[in-house]
Amino acid sequence: LKVLIDGKKIANALLDDLKTKSSPLMRLDVILIGNDAPSQLYVKKKKQTCMRLGIKTCIHKMGKFCGEMNVIRLIQRLNEDPEVNGILVQLPLPPKWDILNVLSQIDPTKDVDGLTPINLGKLTQGSDTGFIPCTPLGCLKLIQSIPDFSIQGKHAVVVGSSFLVGKPMATLLTHANATVTLCHKYTENLEHHVRQADLLVTAVGKPNLIPGTWVKEDSVVLDVGISRTELGLVGDVEFDHAVEKVRAITPVPGGVGPMTVACLMENTIRAFHEQMRI
Ligand code: NAP
Repeated sequence: LKVLIDGKKIANALLDDLKTKSSPLMRLDVILIGNDAPSQLYVKKKKQTCMRLGIKTCIHKMGKFCGEMNVIRLIQRLNEDPEVNGILVQLPLPPKWDILNVLSQIDPTKDVDGLTPINLGKLTQGSDTGFIPCTPLGCLKLIQSIPDFSIQGKHAVVVGSSFLVGKPMATLLTHANATVTLCHKYTENLEHHVRQADLLVTAVGKPNLIPGTWVKEDSVVLDVGISRTELGLVGDVEFDHAVEKVRAITPVPGGVGPMTVACLMENTIRAFHEQMRI
């Protein structure tokens, strides 16, 4: 191992820089539906980080039986409210909700999570005028922080293909001139693909899905997965074994998580400045 990617430290440095650009006029509204424990924790983290930067937050807590229409009405109200700069719907939504319909209601200029069709479309086009989803954006910044490592020309393997993490990650890496393989539940012989990866990004949420023996010597590994086990939080990669051979790897926790929140702050500050310009 050459670099243990310290997500906390890199996120703190970004937050210190963002503190010089933030103002108490900025406001992020978060919609939290139901009482999923991890979601409550993530929302609390987002609120604390806003407080650190002096950004106002408003948390809208809704019961899990509140109904999709009421959430859509709330989003529409926040879209119209000039005091609100960023709107985030904390995922997951209750089962059977039409998640794409709910997300598509958010005004793209306030969509600081980057999950509306407009922003995901802009990302696919390679435009830099939209908002990029916070987790893949955070991963990209972490990769860029590795000394003497360039994404260009590398074989990047992304495991997990959600529209929240895996797919936008694969798109970002494509734009950074990597050759990208995107693996998912139906991928045959995952081991074969992982073994080719100069750069491996895993976003599944299955502990030890990737044994250390699969990880390529001297590769870079970003583990987005988070699973709660009796041993505490663990990622998708068998860390103890992988750490011995890689060039750089993120720990879980303390890797990708803090960077996701920092990127949310970056997007919120940018949203404010762009809205002021109109
Ligand atoms: P998700 O929507 O459940 O997506 C998981 C993806 O993994 C899906 O594409 C799924 O395929 C695929 N998959 C399932 N089993 C697989 C297998 N055996 N082999 C290969 N692929 C498989 O989850 P997500 O929202 O993308 O999040 C993924 C993980 O990252 C979770 O653990 C989550 O907690 C974590 N996460 C962390 C952060 C952070 O800031 N650190 C942020 C977001 C998410 P199908 O689509 O075919 O089912």
